[in-house]
Amino acid sequence: MNLTSRSFIALLGFCIFVSSLELQAKESVDLVVSANYVLTMDRNNTLLEKAAIAIDKGTIVAIGNAALIDEHYAGRQHISSANQVIMPGLINGHTHSAMTLFRGIADDLALMEWLTKYIFPAEIQFVDPDFIRAGTQLACLEMIKGGTTTFVDMYFHPKEIAKVVDECGVRAVIAAAVIDQESGYAKNFDDAMNKAESFIQEWKNKNSRITPAIAAHAAYTIAPEKLKIVRKRANALDVPVSIHLSESKAELEIVNNLYQDTSINHLEKIDFFSGPTIGAHVVWPTAEEIPILVKRKVGAIHNPTSNMKISSGFAPVSEMLDAGVKVGLGTDGAASNNDLDMWEEIRLTALIHKGRSLNPKAMPALRVLEMATRTGAEAIGLAQTSGSLSVGKRADMILISLDAPHLTPLYDVISHLVYAVDAQDVQTVIVDGKILMQDRKVLTLDEESIIKNARAIAEKVNREIRLNK
Ligand SMILES: [Zn+2]
Repeated sequence: MNLTSRSFIALLGFCIFVSSLELQAKESVDLVVSANYVLTMDRNNTLLEKAAIAIDKGTIVAIGNAALIDEHYAGRQHISSANQVIMPGLINGHTHSAMTLFRGIADDLALMEWLTKYIFPAEIQFVDPDFIRAGTQLACLEMIKGGTTTFVDMYFHPKEIAKVVDECGVRAVIAAAVIDQESGYAKNFDDAMNKAESFIQEWKNKNSRITPAIAAHAAYTIAPEKLKIVRKRANALDVPVSIHLSESKAELEIVNNLYQDTSINHLEKIDFFSGPTIGAHVVWPTAEEIPILVKRKVGAIHNPTSNMKISSGFAPVSEMLDAGVKVGLGTDGAASNNDLDMWEEIRLTALIHKGRSLNPKAMPALRVLEMATRTGAEAIGLAQTSGSLSVGKRADMILISLDAPHLTPLYDVISHLVYAVDAQDVQTVIVDGKILMQDRKVLTLDEESIIKNARAIAEKVNREIRLNK
């Protein structure tokens, strides 16, 4: 080897050394996401312009000015979307996901008639593991396409629900339904409790995206002694409990006839709130009951569409938030909504409480977005991992296009998110750092086969019961 070639090799080695130094200067991360706007929904509801988020091993490691993030982080994958807004994924705090297969089965009825004449009989007849799998897949598909990254489910065959959640990549609190009557899934209360415990033992600490829980249907369908068992077992297993709470006047009437009390007071007296509790609806709390929810840290999930559709009423959401109750938003099941569109719940919440109170300041847009994200995460016990885009939290976020005619022009991002954005504007969905949907293509579920399967089950339902026809 002559001198020239030795010099050349030395120079080449020096260049490789310098370029590797440059590479080392940038921290290598799994994913960098950038857009014109990042609404963090942190404590200050910070809105950043031309910002980016660095994500590694499912966690947000940095967030800030896009140029600065680019200077410090090299993403193995990069999503750059100019005219979009990045925000935390929406949290659906109450649903019965597989009821998507009962969508439109019985409309224009009040809660008790709807439940006892149509829903309970249909559940006994049709709900089996295949039904739950197909219905939950359909629900997850719909939720991902609408920007929901976390949901609280309350339904039968929870092991099937967990398998679908595990596969499709969303985050969920899965509450195994317990009701004091035959359901098709369980013969009776004891059977349902055994199934709930078996589910919890199998899925607790199995997948960090899945939080197992127990769902006690309601104070009017389960006797106090049995509700005490639910709470005791949930505390022993260290899992939360979800319950329909003070949903309708009819519920209050039944509880009053049985126990001469209102629902929340009744549950407080039997120490039902002695562990983490997610209360769905909370339409009729009395002024004396709201402080109980605060003291016991009971999360309240507001479901405006369902509450209006089955004529349950208008929950005193402003009053609960002012008192310090953690209030989140939910869709309820698709049989009483009839979709799982959280943007609709956001918009309705912003509108109906202004109408109800004759006060345009009653429910400001930002307060509603908090309920759909950060406060919702607090209400369901996931504040440590979800609800805002902050360093150290899990990377659950959505990217929304601002290009549509109904989002033009743009003066105020928050105004658009509450009053104008639709589910179809959500372009990309990331949960736990994994891309579940990109440019509206869901990557973790087979949309065509899920819809085909759902239609096949619906044909069977329609043929056999011909409800409402
Ligand atoms: Zn419900």
